[in-house]
Amino acid sequence: MSDAERSPLRNHRSGQEIECWLTDMDGVLVHENHAIPGAAELIQRWVDTSKRFLVLTNNSIFTPRDLAARLASSGLEVPEENIWTSALATAQFLKEQVHSSDSGNRAYTIGEAGLTTALHEAGFILTDQDPDFVVLGETRTYSFEAITMAIRLILAGARFIATNPDATGPSKEGPMPATGAIAALITKATGREPYIVGKPNPMMFRSAMNRIDAHSETTAMIGDRMDTDIVAGMEAGLHTVLVLSGITRSDEISSYPFRPNQVLTSVAALVDQI
Ligand SMILES: [Mg+2]
Repeated sequence: MSDAERSPLRNHRSGQEIECWLTDMDGVLVHENHAIPGAAELIQRWVDTSKRFLVLTNNSIFTPRDLAARLASSGLEVPEENIWTSALATAQFLKEQVHSSDSGNRAYTIGEAGLTTALHEAGFILTDQDPDFVVLGETRTYSFEAITMAIRLILAGARFIATNPDATGPSKEGPMPATGAIAALITKATGREPYIVGKPNPMMFRSAMNRIDAHSETTAMIGDRMDTDIVAGMEAGLHTVLVLSGITRSDEISSYPFRPNQVLTSVAALVDQI
């Protein structure tokens, strides 16, 4: 056995072997509207080498077009077709549920344009009249009336779906309650748990890979969170890359019972590997 084969990095796939890349957005490419050094170069390298890639976000507020514009204002040129949100993944999941069962295509939503646009494009009718699904996403203006409506519709038999489990989201003034927190409220009132599509559900990665015709053996996931990006990437069978430019410090990795394939200070260290 060669040293390379004995190495703890034997499962490490080199940048050249990886054909498709999935990457988290916040903490990996951007940090509070500022591009992280190396991010623009990495995206350019993917474009130059014709690599297929998607930028993933659990945030369901924005459409890919909105997000592409926001990234552009941070100095990152990511085409909207290279962005995959939990809202898109949720719409894709629900479309498959409708096709593979006798369920209808009526949905009551709490959320913003990111979610309503995705569901419209997937063929759903948005209504509070006898919906098949209640779909909860993020908004900065959760309405007590809308939450009450959601609770009554779930109790009447609508299936409860949430775009992502995040309990809070960032704002300039501080954390705001997000999908996971409102889902907990609805669960308390109904006794029903939602099916949650976004990270760490590997469903989010599977639908992303389908979108770019990627296969797990030749796909990598880059993220800054062990408990979402890395665990879900691992469970989806991907090469996982943890970057330390976001929420995780290097001394925190050892507190998890699993490890990423690679740990890098930031995506700047990845550019030359591709
Ligand atoms: Mg992140």
